[in-house]
Amino acid sequence: MIENVLPAIYLLASVGFILAVKWMNNPATARRGVIIGEIGMLLAVIGTLLRPEVVEYRWILIGLGIGSAIGAPLAYLMPMTAVPQLTALSHAFGALASALIGTAEYYKGEIPLGFPMGALVLESLLGFLTTTASIIAFAKLQELMPTRPMTYKGQNVVSLSMLTAAIVIGGWMVAAPAPTWAFPAFIALAMGFGIMLVIPIGGADMPTVIALLNSYAGVAAAAMGFVLNNRLLIIAGALNGSAGLILSIIMCKAMNRSFTNVLFGAFGQLAAAATGTVAQRPVRSATPDEAASILDSARSVIVIPGYGMAVAQAQHKIRELYDALTKRGIDVKFAIHPVAGRMPGHMNVLLAEADIPYDKLLEMDEINGDFPNTDVALVIGANDVVNPLARTDKTSPIYGTPILDADRARTVMVIKRSMSPGFAGIDNELYYMNNTLMLFGDAKNFVAGIVKELAGSH
Ligand code: NDP
Repeated sequence: MIENVLPAIYLLASVGFILAVKWMNNPATARRGVIIGEIGMLLAVIGTLLRPEVVEYRWILIGLGIGSAIGAPLAYLMPMTAVPQLTALSHAFGALASALIGTAEYYKGEIPLGFPMGALVLESLLGFLTTTASIIAFAKLQELMPTRPMTYKGQNVVSLSMLTAAIVIGGWMVAAPAPTWAFPAFIALAMGFGIMLVIPIGGADMPTVIALLNSYAGVAAAAMGFVLNNRLLIIAGALNGSAGLILSIIMCKAMNRSFTNVLFGAFGQLAAAATGTVAQRPVRSATPDEAASILDSARSVIVIPGYGMAVAQAQHKIRELYDALTKRGIDVKFAIHPVAGRMPGHMNVLLAEADIPYDKLLEMDEINGDFPNTDVALVIGANDVVNPLARTDKTSPIYGTPILDADRARTVMVIKRSMSPGFAGIDNELYYMNNTLMLFGDAKNFVAGIVKELAGSH
């Protein structure tokens, strides 16, 4: 009976996944996309639990209990600003699951040589390397280890030798029965390569790496689908793998990075100059009432949100500022850098939560041409994404990354608490320019101060 129903359940689950990817493409339908994806996953889990091979539920329930006890508090307690770390950890767990299933299947000894064993080798290689790479990405994002690129002489040779050795052993396992040491050695090499892949990558390039690891985890799951003969896993894994790959290519383009370099983890190497210190140079600063009067006399304002807006949860106050300025006939737009914040789409999510109209949120390419004709660029908790050194300083870790051209506006105002650097750990030339005013304070409080002044002056 269940054999007849199962294909229908899996088909519905696949439709759910496909619709989820489609709907998540647009902020207006993204919520619906998440819900349909969740329903698809629930169907997939229920369908799998009903399979005839599942003879008893005891161990499954124990696993479910342990997993939920770890996963639920993680999801609830992690602040929004730590979502990238959480994503890296989820990739690590997902990839480890694929890798362990690959290991179990290998030692069961029932997988035929040739294509099925090839799928198992691919699954295990990507699974184990994604596990360690994601753990290193997590540690860097959580600042448990230095976020700067860690490089040493001959690094690429070491990394590529490890990968080649793993592939050679994998090839052997596919072609003929391999000796007992082969699989453990293969695992060690894959895990070692995962570490080597992410260590040389600087913090500012982490978003692209996370997208790529997502893709690797997806391909590992698709390969697992071939090993287990499970079509749903193949579809879900392929969707995940291709979505992650497309996202990493988009992010590489946005950050002006070569995709081959990302694939081999050999980028961000110029970043040895990132020291986390800033120069002691004079800057001009202003108070909320001075900032309010400058905004009041502007005709056009571009707001540039960054990670500090997320930390301060300033989006609702920014909405009030948007209302106060538009009521005065001032043209207000928002410039969204693809890696502003700590996850792709971070700024869009927060601004949508505060009901800022979508058509006021403009991507970097759409808005950069407008800065020279704009009266005020109001930078709220953004730093690396407006750092002009990215254009000029070849030793900078963010060199070559496209930035929002805030410095080209007539006046620039920057809300942040101190002169501390941003994620990339480097000083920002924007703060010392003649047309820049620093507005020191917490983003939410400072914007509230401006809104109060504007209300008073009306
Ligand atoms: P940055 O991390 O460069 O800078 C954020 C700034 O916000 C800091 O300089 C900080 O200065 C300020 N800030 C922090 N808290 C507050 C607060 N409460 N009120 C006001 N200001 C505050 O952010 P950007 O968004 O400009 O750039 C993102 C960086 O993160 C890039 O380097 C990107 O590559 C990287 N990244 C992005 C990911 C993504 O997917 N989007 C993922 C991982 C990394 P101060 O302490 O002085 O207040």
